[in-house]
Amino acid sequence: METVIPSWKLPTVAVAGESGVYPVRRIFCVGRNYAAHAREMGSNPDREPPFFFSKFPDSIASNGSTIAYPPETSNCHYEVELVLAIGREGFRIPAAAAQDHIYGYTVGLDMTRRDLQQAAREQGRPWDVGKNFPQSAPMSAIQPAARIGHPRAGAIWLEVDGERKQEADLKDMIWSPDEVVAHLSRLYTLLPGDLIMTGTPAGVGPVAPGQHLLGHIDGLEDLSIRIGPGPDQ
Ligand code: MN
Repeated sequence: METVIPSWKLPTVAVAGESGVYPVRRIFCVGRNYAAHAREMGSNPDREPPFFFSKFPDSIASNGSTIAYPPETSNCHYEVELVLAIGREGFRIPAAAAQDHIYGYTVGLDMTRRDLQQAAREQGRPWDVGKNFPQSAPMSAIQPAARIGHPRAGAIWLEVDGERKQEADLKDMIWSPDEVVAHLSRLYTLLPGDLIMTGTPAGVGPVAPGQHLLGHIDGLEDLSIRIGPGPDQ
């Protein structure tokens, strides 16, 4: 295809055991999906309908990479999350049919400029600049559901420089992955290439250049990320 400005490379995520990669169309994220994290953010953990925000596809960063500390923040946080990779189109998908639309699963980080997110929240403004920036969604290789099934329980944890900071079980989610798919697919027709980050457990906190993040979910590939210097360092 001829383009009138320079084109760019399609963002992708590796797939475990496959030479082919997973092409990224859109990245959706669920806010506050573990009660203890909702409480630490000063919110009500009751079962209100899930809410969503999004990240551009250039938020992807690959496993093992060093990601730049982002600009205009002094409080960049990690959030480890289970990520769903949609493989089949669907609109108004019933929760009971959600698994038919999920190609696979991986471990992701929803990196967050917490100071910008909180300032936006206090002013009733969108979260975009707090949540959506390049390399804000590192992910390990996707494990196809055809091989591992559909994880709905199991440990999820995150370590910073070997120190455990977040630890929970996937079954602690307020809205299960199947229910998340059901809700999101009422707002958007879900399409192959859509990734859904399902929310983070309690224990979020700041990162600093030089630190190492290790994200784990039972049965998936561990995610190992180094924080690099920011634009002014
Ligand atoms: Mn998150």
